[in-house]
Amino acid sequence: KANLSDDEKVKINMQRIAHKILVLSGKGGVGKSTVAVNLATALALQGRRVGLLDVDFHGPSIPTLLHLEGKRPEATENGLLPITIEGGMKVMSIGFLLQRPDDAVIWRGPLKIGAIKQLLGDVAWGDLDYLVIDFPPGTGDEPLTVAQTIPEADGAVVVTTPQDVSTIDVSKSVTFCRQLNIPVLGVVENMSGLICPHCSKLIDLFKQGGGEEMAKRMGVPFLGRIPLDPQIVQSSDEGRPFVYHHSNTEAAAAFQGIVEPL
Ligand code: ADP
Repeated sequence: KANLSDDEKVKINMQRIAHKILVLSGKGGVGKSTVAVNLATALALQGRRVGLLDVDFHGPSIPTLLHLEGKRPEATENGLLPITIEGGMKVMSIGFLLQRPDDAVIWRGPLKIGAIKQLLGDVAWGDLDYLVIDFPPGTGDEPLTVAQTIPEADGAVVVTTPQDVSTIDVSKSVTFCRQLNIPVLGVVENMSGLICPHCSKLIDLFKQGGGEEMAKRMGVPFLGRIPLDPQIVQSSDEGRPFVYHHSNTEAAAAFQGIVEPL
């Protein structure tokens, strides 16, 4: 493998992965990383071989969400070993390659491209059914650079919240995908209503349905809603994938429903 160029290594490695799914959002804070972790976990719970790759340079949050902070992937002759977590999912994050958590913020384009090629080509992913890729938020230079470096993505899942401002950002993400010829697999509306812990009625915190409306208007599939659930916050604070530990909740069922068509 030593004589191969970076691009050849990426190509050979990616050929062993059946589906590559990008998780995008028009802006930060809508739960993109949470959705990426739980979609990947939901797929793993269905018995699929799954990898989760975090290429969010500005805030690689997968290590925190899965309690893998400070981990260093082992370098072997087959490449960097991803970290295998409960449920068998293989995890790799740009955060594992940084000395300090904000190092990558000051990286220029070529350095970022090099890092992504390393994460795709030098990591020993092995044979996978799915690689779920947690993208940098927004539609600016950074996600653009990342998207252009990842060959043959199957498509993108766009995460939004129901508020109008957020759904406007969705249309930007859809346009972003169209310009790059990346199929939009669909829109996920996260933080969609809150189940009252006292009366079990749905509290329509941010006006449900904005994501679905926007998907319809943009002519892309709507994949489903994830309610606000305090247990999701708790799970991410504890570093445990929510759907793995709270599989009997409405929110976990919603994640399982979303991966159904993927
Ligand atoms: P992003 O990747 O879009 O910046 P994160 O996935 O880091 O967002 O989520 C931001 C915060 O919101 C985290 O604290 C996470 O636990 C919380 N969160 C995300 N989705 C939900 C949800 N459906 N219910 C409750 N909390 C959520």
